[in-house]
Amino acid sequence: MIVQDHDGISLYKFSLFSRQTKIIHAVTSRMSKKEGNIFSMSLKDSYGIENRKKICNLLSLPIENLVLSRQVHGKHITLVTAQDRGRGNLSYDTAIPSSDAMITKEVDTPLVSLSGDCPILGFFDPVQKAIGLAHAGWRGTALEIAFHTIQAMRKEFQSNPNDILAAIAPSIGPCCYKVQEEVLEKVKNLSWGKKTIQKREGFYYLDLWLANTEQLLSAGLKAENIECSKICTACHLDKFFSYRIEGANSGRCAFILSLCE
Ligand SMILES: [Zn+2]
Repeated sequence: MIVQDHDGISLYKFSLFSRQTKIIHAVTSRMSKKEGNIFSMSLKDSYGIENRKKICNLLSLPIENLVLSRQVHGKHITLVTAQDRGRGNLSYDTAIPSSDAMITKEVDTPLVSLSGDCPILGFFDPVQKAIGLAHAGWRGTALEIAFHTIQAMRKEFQSNPNDILAAIAPSIGPCCYKVQEEVLEKVKNLSWGKKTIQKREGFYYLDLWLANTEQLLSAGLKAENIECSKICTACHLDKFFSYRIEGANSGRCAFILSLCE
């Protein structure tokens, strides 16, 4: 990924997306010179609204149009329309309920997904001019939300998977994502299950990056059109938040993706 510093605020960008002129995107980090190491996009954290405003200013995106959903580790996908602009931008109460993925063809309607370990996947179809975001923790990954989001883009936008570019944001890697029996039971019989489980020193680890990449390949995406950051949030606590290491009160980084004119 490309790291850009904006007056002490570090933003991460995908090479694949940065070459595109019809989208604006960034993954935020916890790095901020002014606030210290707690630059969180969650409204539960102090300065959450201020931080969102700063990021929108840096990216020249209208904060009044940001769209967020309440992520529940399910597989519901919301088709975001112009009427949804502003939902969840400054208040959790107005966010789209119970939805872990959003897709849209609306320009100037930035989609935002928050995470502190869970992979967030971003999608861009440069032919049909459509975007999507999917939140894929282990439950969402086991429900194959990445695969289903591509299906939704096919159905709603007539997207050809051959054209879709995909990016997987920094998230907990197979180096650190130790999992219990409950998780193994849910994934081991899926088509990609076995190759994503690693056993080391008597413990099991799940490779969420590979699991999601495999789903995108089986949905028809080209391997060269998938960019996985391969940055582990638990290994890089100086740069990202980690729910696994810091607990439920850890901050949240954001994946922001918007279509532009
Ligand atoms: Zn790690």
